[in-house]
Amino acid sequence: MSYPFATINEVELTPEDVIALRTALRDEGAFRREQLAGLAETWPLDTAQPHTPHATAREEVLHALAEAAQNVLTDVEAALHRLETGHYGSCHLCDRPIPLPRLRILPHARYCGPCHQLKETLA
Ligand SMILES: [Zn+2]
Repeated sequence: MSYPFATINEVELTPEDVIALRTALRDEGAFRREQLAGLAETWPLDTAQPHTPHATAREEVLHALAEAAQNVLTDVEAALHRLETGHYGSCHLCDRPIPLPRLRILPHARYCGPCHQLKETLA
C-alpha cells in the first residue's frame, strides 16, 4: 500500500491529513464561490442612481470584498491542484516544507510563516 502524498519534502502528511486538508480546501472554495455569486447579484450597482459619496464607498467595499474572495479562491484552487499532483506543502519562496499546524489553519498557504512575514513586511 503506497500513499502518494505521504512524504512531501520532509512534511509527513498522513492520508487523514490529506483528506482533512482537501475537505477544508473544498469547503473554503465553495464558500468563496458563494460569496462571489452573492456579490455578483449586487453588482453592477444601480448606475441610474446619482453617484453619491456613500454609493462610491459602498462600491469600493464590494470591489475589495470581491477581489479578496477571488484571490482566496485562486489560492484554494492552486492548493487543490498541488495536493492532487503531489506538490503540496512547500513554501513558494524558500521551498522548505510548510509546517502542518500552519497548513491546518491555512490550507491554501503558499508560504511558510517566516516567508509570509517577510512578504508582509516588504509589501
Ligand atoms: Zn518559506
